[in-house]
Formats: sequence, C-alpha cells, structure tokens
Amino acid sequence: MSSGEPLDIVIVGGGTAGWMVGTALVSGLRPNQARVRLVESDDIATVGVGEATIPAMRDYNRFVGIDEVEMLRATNGTFKLGIEFLDWGFQGSNYHHPFGVHGQAMGGAAFHQQWNRARLAGHDFDIEEFSYAIAASRADRFEFPNPDPSLIESSYSYAYHFDASLYAKFLRKVAEGRGLKRTEGKVVAVNRDGLSGDVASITLASGEVVKGDFFVDCTGFRGLLIGQTLESPFEDWSHWLPCDRAWAVPCARGGRLTPFTRSTAREAGWIWRIPLQHRSGNGYVYSSAHISDDEAAAVLMGQLDGEALDEPRQIRFKAGRRTASWTRNVMAAGLASGFLEPLESTSIYLVQAAVMNLLKLFPGKRVEPALVDEFNRRIDREYDRVRDFLILHYHANTRTDAPLWKQCREMEIPDSLKQKLELFRRRGHAPSHRDGLFSLHSWTSLLLGQGVTPEGYDRLADNVPLSQALAEMERQRAAITRRVPLMPSHADFVARHCAVPARTAEVVA
Ligand SMILES: Cc1cc2nc3c(=O)[nH]c(=O)nc-3n(C[C@H](O)[C@H](O)[C@H](O)COP(=O)(O)OP(=O)(O)OC[C@H]3O[C@@H](n4cnc5c(N)ncnc54)[C@H](O)[C@@H]3O)c2cc1C
Repeated sequence: MSSGEPLDIVIVGGGTAGWMVGTALVSGLRPNQARVRLVESDDIATVGVGEATIPAMRDYNRFVGIDEVEMLRATNGTFKLGIEFLDWGFQGSNYHHPFGVHGQAMGGAAFHQQWNRARLAGHDFDIEEFSYAIAASRADRFEFPNPDPSLIESSYSYAYHFDASLYAKFLRKVAEGRGLKRTEGKVVAVNRDGLSGDVASITLASGEVVKGDFFVDCTGFRGLLIGQTLESPFEDWSHWLPCDRAWAVPCARGGRLTPFTRSTAREAGWIWRIPLQHRSGNGYVYSSAHISDDEAAAVLMGQLDGEALDEPRQIRFKAGRRTASWTRNVMAAGLASGFLEPLESTSIYLVQAAVMNLLKLFPGKRVEPALVDEFNRRIDREYDRVRDFLILHYHANTRTDAPLWKQCREMEIPDSLKQKLELFRRRGHAPSHRDGLFSLHSWTSLLLGQGVTPEGYDRLADNVPLSQALAEMERQRAAITRRVPLMPSHADFVARHCAVPARTAEVVA
C-alpha cells in the first residue's frame, strides 16, 4: 500500500463476519494506513448460529492477539478435538474427523499407507486406534498438546465451541478498544460513484451519509453491497448440497461435556450437537424437498439431551458462493460471500481466509485488478476445497433408508472430487494442506470413515519391512493407550482453565 492519506474502510454488518473482519483490520493495520468504521443495525438480527470452529481459528487469535482463555470465558466456550460422525456412511457407522494425525509416517510413506499395506496383508487394525485426538475424544479428555514433537501427546490440535452471539460481543470490545468506530444504523441506500461505478457511500435511516474508499459487505445472506448493488452473481451449488434449511435450538446440557461436535445423519439431512459450558447448541440441517418443516422440527426436538431452552428457530439458505467475492471496491465476507453448510464448521474459517487475504493484498485508494483477481482466485480455491469435502460426506454412502441418500450417492459430482476419489481408491493418495483445507489426515479420516477403501498403496511403504512396520504400529497404538488416561477430563480442564467464574461447579457436573 502506498503512503499518504489512510484508507477509509467501511464494514457493513456486525455479525460474526463483521466483527472478525473489523478486529483483524484494526489489529493488522496502523492508523496511518486505514481508518476502520463498522455500521450495524440493531433492527436486523444476526444469523445467531455458528458455534463450532476448526483449529485455524487459533491462528486468527494469535494474529489479532486474543487470549484464548479470556475468549472462552467470555463466550461460555469449550474445546473441540474434532467431529464425531454417526450414521453417515451407513446406519450404525461411527467415525471421527480428528484434529490430528493418524499415526506417524514410516519409510517415506504416510501412516495410512502403511496401515493399508498391513490391511491388504491380512492385519486388520482399526485406523482410529492410531489417533491420539480420537482416543482422547472417546474418553472425554482434554489438555493442551505438548509442544515436544517427540511425544505422542503432541500429535493433535484443537479448536473451540462458543456462543456465537457472545463471540461477536467479545470481538466488538477488542476492536473498539483498538480504534474501530462503530455506528448503529440501518443502511437504506448504497450510493455509487457516477463515473467509476464504485461504491462511494451508504445512507443510513437517520439520513447520515457514510463515505468510504473501500467497503466490506458483511450483511449476511442479503449481500446488500456485493449482490443487491454490484450484482456479483451467486453460483448455486444446491444440486450437490441439497440441504436448504435448518432448525436451531439450545437445550440444557445433559451428561458428559464432550470435547467434540457430534453430527448425526438423518433421513433428510443431519443433526448437530455442540457442547458449551452453559448449554448445548443443536440443529437439524435438512433438505426441504425430503421432509416437511414440521416433521424436521419434531425430529430435532425429539432427540435433545436436555430441556429445550427456547423455541426452535428456522434459517433458510442456499449452498453456493459469489463468483467474485471482491468486486470493484467491495469485498464480501461471511454469508454475504457464500454459504456452505456447517457440517465441517468452515464458515468462520472462510471469514478468516477472506480478511487475511485482504490484508495481504491490501488495496490503495484505487483498486488494482491484479490484486482483486488474486484475491478471488484464492477465495475460490478455499470454497472449492470445502465444497468437495462436504459433498464427499453425502456422496460416499450406502444408506438405504431414505431418498436423499440414494440421490446423493447417484449424483454427478464435480470433476475435482472425482479425481480425488479415484486417486484414493487406486493408491490411497489424498490431498494435503498445501492446497488449502483440509490436511491429508482430514481427507483420510473422511474417506475411510465413509467407507472408501484403497485397493493399493504407495510403493514407498515397502521401504520398511512389513514386520517392522507392524511392530511400530503396535508401539504407537500402545503409547496412545498408555498416555490418554493420564489426561484430565474435558470438564475438569474447562473448570480449571476457562470456566465462566459462576459456572465452575456446573461445568464439572
Ligand atoms: C444453520 C447454520 C449453522 C452454522 N453453524 C456454523 C458453525 O458451527 N461454524 C461456523 O464456522 N459457521 C457456522 N455457520 C455460519 C456462521 O453462522 C456465519 O458464517 C457467521 O455467523 C457469519 O454471519 P455473518 O456475520 O456473515 O451474517 P449475520 O450474522 O447475518 O450478520 C449480518 C449483519 O448485517 C447487518 N445488516 C444487514 N442488513 C443491514 C442493513 N441494511 N443495515 C445495517 N446493517 C445491516 C445485521 O444487523 C447483522 O449485524 C452456520 C450457519 C448456519 C445458517
């Protein structure tokens, strides 16, 4: 960015996206680089869901300098070691997508290649027994990973569950403390420059006109600037991801404080359960073509762990993304830029990816097309990767109970996913983090969990004699079995490290 007058940035919208973007901008830019203002309307509610995250969020916290313990206390937060998937590949199936590795590589080949080689030779190990994160999840235990990479208890990562509305409030405090200016007001008009066509200002219901050099659209599904004003097209992906509605309801927390999100497949979609300190968040994400709203609400209310704490609330959506999240002098983040269902808790990550890329490609007073193109290329790649990952959950199934699952099994999938599936089936090769979300271990856990098994393996695995590989696998499995019981329970850990003070006893209960 060139020196001179600071850029006037106006963020429209104060949901999770608006406040994450605002906090990152005032943390990453100096006052002589940008003045940041956020406009939000008390009359227009935020979507009010979005309570599970992935480990990348820790990078966001580090970047903006948020202390996670303080954040978890402020948001009734808990820790997350992964997601448990029930009934996904087939009814009765149960697997975890852990935030961590499945075993250590051997002989230049990934661990799952050695595991598959052993399997093909008749040694039937359960690959989940080699994941520390899964063993800890199943035992409801949590502690911070050990930084010493030689120890088995270093082989995992973690994320958070939190109360979404409290999180936005928490960020607001941080951002305002660092100079962000907040204005309450409803935007009634978006005004474009007659010559350039860029957005020049917004008009509030009070009559105030807020001018800016650059605008960030965080107005949620409305996409007030990016869609309604600049008409950036929305690419519809609902033929691959047919769920288009959700019922969400909080309930009293019953039983264990699990360090994982639970996702249970149902006849017309899936149900989430997110454990917080003071309650559980629940929701049924479903396809309205396959179940009525009333039936879906009844299914959700019938499986709560505890007493409902509110009436269920319906949210409607369509899977897809803007073809250009950055158009002219407007960048969209959050629901304004696209929506992918919360099956892998990726929306908050996509907000993070948007603002971090904006900071890297930060514009001057005049927007440069090369920066815009690069931004859109990066964001498209992020969305494509998440999309393929999500579609795989639906496509690779052998469920016979309901039409949704047959439809998803038989649907034409994107070529990019076809190629990934074929490569995994042939030699067990899976994508890696290098190209965006997700890591090799995430892809492997999903592919194997959904019942896709490779018929061959990476020949590099043969560099280690099979007997040696088997002995090493036994050693790794035994190390996990020995170490996990020494961890504190998740409830004790939360009570000790980050309980909302009045709740310590409640968390442990
Ligand atoms: C069912 C469901 C479950 C989800 N679960 C997860 C999850 O577990 N993990 C995850 O990462 N993500 C999840 N998400 C996504 C997550 O909720 C969103 O990405 C996140 O909350 C960001 O929303 P937002 O800020 O873009 O939009 P919103 O929360 O809708 O905020 C929009 C803001 O714009 C303002 N606004 C709108 N119009 C105007 C106007 N005219 N004038 C002034 N202000 C205006 C509103 O007042 C509000 O402040 C989920 C989404 C859904 C639908």
